[in-house]
Amino acid sequence: MSVEIRNLEKWFGNYHAVKDTSVSIADGEFFVMLGPSGCGKTTTLRMVAGLELPTSGEIRIRGRDVTYMEPRHRDIAMAFQDYGLYPHLSIRRNIEFPLKVRKMAQAERGRKVEEVAEMMGIHHLLDRKPSQISGGQRQRVALARALVRNPHVFLMDEPLSALDAKLRAQMRTEIKKLVTRLGITTIYVTHDQIEAMSMADRIAVMDQGEMVQIAAPMDLYDRPRNRFVAEFVGSPAMNLLPVRAGAGGRYACALEALPGLLSDAETAANPAAVNGTAGFIGVRPENLSIAAAPEAGDFRAVVDLVEPLGQTTNVFLKAGDVDLIAVVDRTAARAGDTVGVTVRPGSLRLVAA
Ligand code: ATP
Repeated sequence: MSVEIRNLEKWFGNYHAVKDTSVSIADGEFFVMLGPSGCGKTTTLRMVAGLELPTSGEIRIRGRDVTYMEPRHRDIAMAFQDYGLYPHLSIRRNIEFPLKVRKMAQAERGRKVEEVAEMMGIHHLLDRKPSQISGGQRQRVALARALVRNPHVFLMDEPLSALDAKLRAQMRTEIKKLVTRLGITTIYVTHDQIEAMSMADRIAVMDQGEMVQIAAPMDLYDRPRNRFVAEFVGSPAMNLLPVRAGAGGRYACALEALPGLLSDAETAANPAAVNGTAGFIGVRPENLSIAAAPEAGDFRAVVDLVEPLGQTTNVFLKAGDVDLIAVVDRTAARAGDTVGVTVRPGSLRLVAA
């Protein structure tokens, strides 16, 4: 195991920022902590980095207890959103800095800087100052500076959030390719679910100091454990309809046809919901399709709004009092039309509250 976090707790005064967190991160894994502002992801990362001491619990890196060890002895490197480059030093000196601190010989330092600059495509920038390069280039330099030490674990806190959307998409592909190629265990913090989905081997979704669900991106997407995860991952969000267990183990919800479309496997896999715990029937928007003329098994809905996005189209629907959103390819439907809505077989989920 590369990084092991055991029963980690952090209190700030009487505020419980990180709650009994345990997770094992494998060698070479790309692990993402995803959650809204204030959920405790940065605090957790800072404890792994050694910038924050836990209230209790244990952190191990390659089997070694580093819980109270200084950051520089942990075999980690960090890259943060604000780059943290020294403005008065050239790019070359910036990248070289961590090696100098570690008293590496000059010739070897030079060789390592050249090597990592080549890998990051910033060789031509080495003699400039940080103010003379673009935001994307600065981000590359910050990554180069972190990677030049060849750390065992790479920690990144929202490294792309200062970049514009296009550059962010490009950098996320680059980072993913890079750390995969280098095989470095990476812990990455973000509030951006697309970043998390596209980069992670596993995602931990965090809410109020807890890792609510830890799973591979598509498992998380397909089987969100509760409402928080269902709503946080996926855009547009999963349709969620309150459901209750009625007589004979049947479910009831505002759309009468829906519970009958739950697969047996789904019902069997969710004993909590069967026991009558308040929950939801969830369906991802792309698992709803619409047709001008309702067919057998469809339910009817009125189109509220059609939102074409080019590749896909969001269709906002009203089925009685129930609001739904469907994502379809293209549609001739217009606001006010009555359409038939089909649910993709096997796509309904029971989701805990
Ligand atoms: P963001 O994306 O906004 O950074 P986050 O999920 O990373 O959010 P943290 O920075 O880990 O959240 O903070 C978790 C909670 O702990 C927040 O409510 C924050 O206000 C609180 N907190 C963080 N650092 C301290 C501190 N030094 N003293 C008191 N409270 C703190």
